[in-house]
Amino acid sequence: MTASHPTGIRLGCGYNTDRGLRRELNEDSFLASDPVFAVADGMGGHEAGEVASRECIATLGQSAALASGSRSATASDLQEVLRQADARIRALTDSRAGTTVSGVVLVEERGVPYWLVFNVGDSRTYRLSQGRFEQISVDHSEVQELVDGGFITAAEALVHPRRHVVTRALGAGDNTEADFWLMPVEEGDRLLVCSDGLTGEVGDEAIHRMLSTIAHPQDAVDALIHAALRHGGRDNVTVIIVDASDVAGSDSVSVDTAQFAADDITLPRATESSTDGGSAPTLEDQDV
Ligand code: MG
Repeated sequence: MTASHPTGIRLGCGYNTDRGLRRELNEDSFLASDPVFAVADGMGGHEAGEVASRECIATLGQSAALASGSRSATASDLQEVLRQADARIRALTDSRAGTTVSGVVLVEERGVPYWLVFNVGDSRTYRLSQGRFEQISVDHSEVQELVDGGFITAAEALVHPRRHVVTRALGAGDNTEADFWLMPVEEGDRLLVCSDGLTGEVGDEAIHRMLSTIAHPQDAVDALIHAALRHGGRDNVTVIIVDASDVAGSDSVSVDTAQFAADDITLPRATESSTDGGSAPTLEDQDV
């Protein structure tokens, strides 16, 4: 898929999903339709997880705020859509199923394109930008909390018996709040959105290497999924890659990644600043 936009930015995209080698069903769902790129990983027996992830993705796909070609979505728009998804999943599954969801929406503020990354659970969004590879989303999982608390290392988290336990999900449990990150699109950016069926099998270093060396996004998607299967394919695996080129205004932007915890924001600061007639969006005091 390739698309061009009024600002001149061009997106290239690859995507695929695989049931893996051990699971009977594929309970992952995804949406890769500009401006929304999202992966949902359903949880719950008897196909309920499949219903949860599919409903989540359907809600994203049907949202007017995220309509094709729209660049005006805000974090609060997205938060509202995710709340709708949560309610729809609860109604459909009687709160017996849940889903993670992570991904990115391309938005614009005064003609400058931004990635609006969002996350609930332990699917992930990564960014390869100017040679630097980093996980943007932060997992909502028991092992992430253990890592944050200094009780285990990141390497130990990969093999921890409770590594699949998420602490936030849509459709189940008490904590459904998404986290958001807003960052200017840089020329040549490559974003990766994936379910834990990839990251549970393939380490960040190998992912980084494949993203850096395989030019075509669909080829890179296929290589990543193949690697997950080769390493065991114990879970459903879903991968989306989004490439940005011809990024207008990328030279003039000097703000860094800003993270918004759910209780920090009702609107991203970039949107709040749009009412004050100031210059570039102010995303101050954020180290990366
Ligand atoms: Mg999974």
